Amino acid sequence: MGLVMSSRGCPYSCTFCATNRNQVSFRSPDHIISEIRFVKEHYKTTQFTFKDDSFTVNRKRIFELCKKLIDEKLPIKWECNTRVNLLDEQMLRIMKKAGCNFIKVGIESGSERILSDMNKGITHDQIRIAAKLFRKVGIHWTGYFMIGVPDETEWDIRRAIDFLYEIEPDFAVIGIYDLFPGTVMWEDGILRGIVNPNMDLEDFYTNLPNFYYKKDFNHQNDKISPEKFAKLESEVKEIVRNYNRNFFRVFKMARAKLPVYWYDSKVLWDDVKKYLSY
Ligand code: SF4
Repeated sequence: MGLVMSSRGCPYSCTFCATNRNQVSFRSPDHIISEIRFVKEHYKTTQFTFKDDSFTVNRKRIFELCKKLIDEKLPIKWECNTRVNLLDEQMLRIMKKAGCNFIKVGIESGSERILSDMNKGITHDQIRIAAKLFRKVGIHWTGYFMIGVPDETEWDIRRAIDFLYEIEPDFAVIGIYDLFPGTVMWEDGILRGIVNPNMDLEDFYTNLPNFYYKKDFNHQNDKISPEKFAKLESEVKEIVRNYNRNFFRVFKMARAKLPVYWYDSKVLWDDVKKYLSY
């Protein structure tokens, strides 16, 4: 897999995110393509990932880049992360034509209240619209969910599962929230008595998150007891694991990767081994 950064930064201000805000710097399409070509030639890479925080933040640039990728006719596929409010049908179609086979978007929460607290700047309706567009255009998509943020209740967490089955991404990821110094949620965590305010930068670099930021290792959230949260966490993770194991979904993922298997049959073999190990 080839990892490429085509831009850096994000203009949004989600309260949990440690990404540099406001200023976004972009590389030119020619510069990006020359890197892709170099990696392709030297390492025979067939699947690339744009690691940008919000790949489609600049619509005009995406169209320029995609047009150039189409003209280049490179035998590669690529994926990216973005936001549901930064997509439209025309853009998805040109991205697909330019080789995009996977898109990953943050859903974050099944609870509108928590989504709004996170200052994510998207609504469930926008997510529903994007889900329909992904299906219409035929691009494999992943939805990222997160649980364990301050102020979240058991009800909010269970909404993640309801919403997962409502929007039905082709693949789902559920993460447990980690606090990052400098974020709004970090400051909020201090006020709520979850975060250890005495943590210094050295701890941040040398310890695992659970050991450096929490006052109490087991205390993830201020509304749910540690025992209850541990139970909920394993229950929700198991549901998501089963959701992803569904044969139809695995088949869709394999279908999205068919060209990559065609370019390099070793990737197919690696994926079969991965599936069997589930
Ligand atoms: S979560 Fe995504 S959209 Fe929000 S600030 Fe971070 S990078 Fe930007």
